[in-house]
Amino acid sequence: MAYRFFAHACLAVVLLCTSLARAQDAPSERWLPLFDGRTLDGWKVVGSDKTRWEVVDGVIVGSGEPSMLVSVTGPYRNFRYRVEMKINDGGNSGLYFRTAPEPGFLDGYEAQVDSTHTDPIRTGSLYGMCHVYTKLVEPDTWFTYQIDVRDDVWRGREMTRIKVTVDGKELYEHLDFAKQFGPGHFAFQQHDPKSLVSIRRIEVLTLPDREQKPQPQTQPGRAEESSAAEPASAKVIDTLAIGDNVKIHFDVTETPDLRKWVQSDLMPACRDWYPRICEQLRADGFEPPAEFSVTFRDKMDGVAHTSGTDITCAGPWYRNNLKTEAVGSVVHELVHVVQQYGSFRRANRPPGWLVEGIADHIRWYQFEPVDKRRRIDWTRANYDQAYFPSATFLDYIVRTIDAQAITKINDDCRAGRYSETYWVDKYGRTAEQLWADAKAEATQ
Ligand SMILES: [Zn+2]
Repeated sequence: MAYRFFAHACLAVVLLCTSLARAQDAPSERWLPLFDGRTLDGWKVVGSDKTRWEVVDGVIVGSGEPSMLVSVTGPYRNFRYRVEMKINDGGNSGLYFRTAPEPGFLDGYEAQVDSTHTDPIRTGSLYGMCHVYTKLVEPDTWFTYQIDVRDDVWRGREMTRIKVTVDGKELYEHLDFAKQFGPGHFAFQQHDPKSLVSIRRIEVLTLPDREQKPQPQTQPGRAEESSAAEPASAKVIDTLAIGDNVKIHFDVTETPDLRKWVQSDLMPACRDWYPRICEQLRADGFEPPAEFSVTFRDKMDGVAHTSGTDITCAGPWYRNNLKTEAVGSVVHELVHVVQQYGSFRRANRPPGWLVEGIADHIRWYQFEPVDKRRRIDWTRANYDQAYFPSATFLDYIVRTIDAQAITKINDDCRAGRYSETYWVDKYGRTAEQLWADAKAEATQ
């Protein structure tokens, strides 16, 4: 019987691989057109009344005063987006992605559209991030812009990959470690009255998140043993139920050697800390995720990351750190599971260092005992370096100004109340001043 099970398992694996390969080879099957070729249905204009967006002979044409033509479809996180467009001689436009529903020029990533405008940053550029000064496309000439965007992890650091392709030629891939813009919408820019932009094809292909959700095979309430008689491809998942609502699925299919530690150390820590994190990061009307997975990968670089509400952990790193930082790193990711800050205009979006600082504050200043805590190098550290330095910055505020600061700051991040003057408005001091205070206190 075992032999037959293996035969079935192998067949299933082969079929899966075949369908994946087909999906990659022929993505055109799933392209979604965002322009119907006749109307601006699904699009809205944000900006000057003296702007003009119209469809002429199957082409969207933008002219007049500055504005944005925004797709109401979305938001999109991971995708391949392609557009056929052209720009007039001396004109300037932009292809925006991950932008706000009602964006200004600064909201979202912008792939520049500019062949001969006085701004020398040409078509192919990712504005403000990666600039192309060579004219790749002649004015008044149709070209294809393709943008591939994917949240990913590189050497253990979360980032957003942005690949730019013009007329089928891959120009570069920019890695945005600041993750400046989260999931958002597509838009086109009408830059100025001398610009005339034309667009005739707009399509998007949704790409899967980096890690796929495992199929839980357990009943809530207790860790289920996975039967040895099941096919070799069966998932090995232990489910932790907390209260009536919360279920966390721990998938050790690829790393069965970690299962004992997951059951003895990790699951009890999550049972204690997930409710505490939810309580601390509470906000009116916000329901923290009630079901998600923690998946261990046998072959993966880095430490761990959270994509959507699911956590993925690098088996090799965990094997080496089981007795030291392993549980704490998952606590850090649990904070990300709860944070789920929406996408706001750039000015109101909490910066990456603060998001990571909150996660590391709960990890290092709450979960870990004091004697395990890292030490900060005050000669080099700064509050905006994310992780432990930013956690130390928050610790100073919690200890000296407001014991409830984490809850309140989280609430502000969630509500889009972050701003350039946030620290002054809230505590009467700039972030730089608060950091100087913290340093003076620590090094006196
Ligand atoms: Zn993090």
